Amino acid sequence: MSHFETDAIRIAASKSNQREHSAPLYLSSSFTFDSAEEARAMFAEEIEGNIYSRYANPNSTDLIQKVCAAEGTEDGIATASGMAAMFGSMAALLQQGDHILASRSLFGSTHQLLTRVFPKWGISSTYGDISDIKNWEKLIQPNTKMLFIETPSNPGLEIIDLEWAGKFAATHKLILVVDNCFATPYLQQPAKWGAHIVTHSATKFIDGQGRVLGGLILGNKELIQDVQFFARHTGPSISPFNAWILAKSMETLAVRMDRHCESALRIAEYFESNSELENVKYPFLKSHPQYELAKKQMKLGGGIITLSLKGGISRAQRFIDQLQMISVTANLGDSRSIITHPASTTHSKLSEEERAKVGISDGLIRLSVGLEHHEDITKDIERALEKSK
Ligand SMILES: *Cc1c(COP(=O)(O)O)cnc(C)c1O
Repeated sequence: MSHFETDAIRIAASKSNQREHSAPLYLSSSFTFDSAEEARAMFAEEIEGNIYSRYANPNSTDLIQKVCAAEGTEDGIATASGMAAMFGSMAALLQQGDHILASRSLFGSTHQLLTRVFPKWGISSTYGDISDIKNWEKLIQPNTKMLFIETPSNPGLEIIDLEWAGKFAATHKLILVVDNCFATPYLQQPAKWGAHIVTHSATKFIDGQGRVLGGLILGNKELIQDVQFFARHTGPSISPFNAWILAKSMETLAVRMDRHCESALRIAEYFESNSELENVKYPFLKSHPQYELAKKQMKLGGGIITLSLKGGISRAQRFIDQLQMISVTANLGDSRSIITHPASTTHSKLSEEERAKVGISDGLIRLSVGLEHHEDITKDIERALEKSK
């Protein structure tokens, strides 16, 4: 184990015999065996090796090894999207009759999984509010098997105490799953606090340039064995090309995150006292309700800020239409700054009441701070605020 940056760059699972310096792309569905006996032994899992790209591929193995070093986890699988990872982590480890306790502020599609998909198979769930975390014990049922949380949450930027979650899960013998997408392993490593499974949408900051979809399920060998079994036979595998892109992206994650976070803090501070905004939320702003907790468990504040515009939905839409540089799209964690209006897009499937419970007001804007110069990002926002009055 070297430093984070060094491991992310130097750990490499695959080497061909061509003496290449940069990792090659292995576009091959299957891999050959030297003998009938070797084929038998590989299928019997007596020896390790590449069999078929639905199981593993040198590029996905590369990606997994780099991310495991970053997260401090033993093993994992890479999936075709973040949602395949969220779904797989639950579907592989739970069965009919089980119950999930989850934090209420979840990514929109994860909310759909819990409320519309898993109930079809007899897996139920209950949401806990972060403001009421002391009472989560009361939400546990005899059949509760999993605690699923997201911190910081999307888009509300609520922070859950990972140390508390690790202890709570251990006490109640729950599998703790943490969606670590917003923080990335560079800012926070949930496994250190007792998370059994860490999931990612690698589509976001891990890719960092808005090119490919990908997901990760990481954890200790024992649990990951069950996830691997599930994935091998249900087929959510990542494509070798996407895994290759994401493994390369891991090499620059630390420097990119440093810049995303540095600019985000400057921008959040700049707009904090703006009279056109009801609220500016960023984990490393002193005014964030969980500032101390964010400082304790995150290296930096992350690349996402929320701005609550005065004037509700119509103001938010006028503001968006006045932007000249910042992209209007549903992604985040890109080199390009992105603005999203959750109430009318990513979280539009939630009822107004559900949105209110997770702090998504009509005027809330999610800003994913990109790698452009922070002054240009600030200028674009300031202009659009002025023009949308
Ligand atoms: C985007 C996102 C996901 C889903 O990932 P995809 O790669 O889009 O499938 C899950 N969780 C969080 C927190 C996200 O931001």
